[in-house]
Amino acid sequence: MRIVLLGAPGSGKGTQSQRLVERHGIPQVSTGDLLRAAVAKGTPLGLKAKEAMAAGRLVADEIVLGMIRERLAEPDTRHGFILDGFPRNLAQARALDALLGEIGQPLDAVVQMEVDYGELSRRISGRRTCSDCGRVVNLLTSPPGEAEREACPKTGKPHRLFQRPDDNEATVTERLKVYEQQTRPLVDYYREQALLHTIDAKGPVAEVEQRLERALAQ
Ligand code: AMP
Repeated sequence: MRIVLLGAPGSGKGTQSQRLVERHGIPQVSTGDLLRAAVAKGTPLGLKAKEAMAAGRLVADEIVLGMIRERLAEPDTRHGFILDGFPRNLAQARALDALLGEIGQPLDAVVQMEVDYGELSRRISGRRTCSDCGRVVNLLTSPPGEAEREACPKTGKPHRLFQRPDDNEATVTERLKVYEQQTRPLVDYYREQALLHTIDAKGPVAEVEQRLERALAQ
């Protein structure tokens, strides 16, 4: 299963990817996570990416494509992968097609996760990540206290939750604009390739998960 999850920031790509990983045993490949790791380590690539990320703009295609090429060459992707946050513009989508064509592993499906603008902003403001295990939780949509009570699988202690620096209001506005201008055109691109499935990504995580599974089973 080689799939792309397409959707605006806050549409639930990361959350649903993590669930797909557990159920299907294929890795999540998130360019956002790879870039954040590079920034945290202070690698030359991370230093180049940092400014664009903080401003909510896209990082240069050559940087992201280099990372994807390396990641998809790793053996754990042989039986499939979930691309989360990549591709983000037409040039990346075309480069991905070329790369997967070279290795004879074309995409099976692209799922567009639809959520309205107001809900996206609300979700992003409540989003927190555990600095130990990377789990993403939402303080606004999960039952009160649940995220804080749950034990982190890495440390056995409560999750240490932090808010991503680019989840502030000004950066989120820019990221949503970038999505509309650069990423949304991919909906038509994949529709023309007959790969596109659109699901309603509003509502409880478990319901969205069922819609996603139904779309993938088609
Ligand atoms: P995400 O975690 O997917 O929301 O990504 C966080 C930030 O990383 C984005 O706002 C971009 O600055 C950068 N980024 C992630 N994926 C890509 C990509 N495919 N192309 C360019 N920039 C990206």
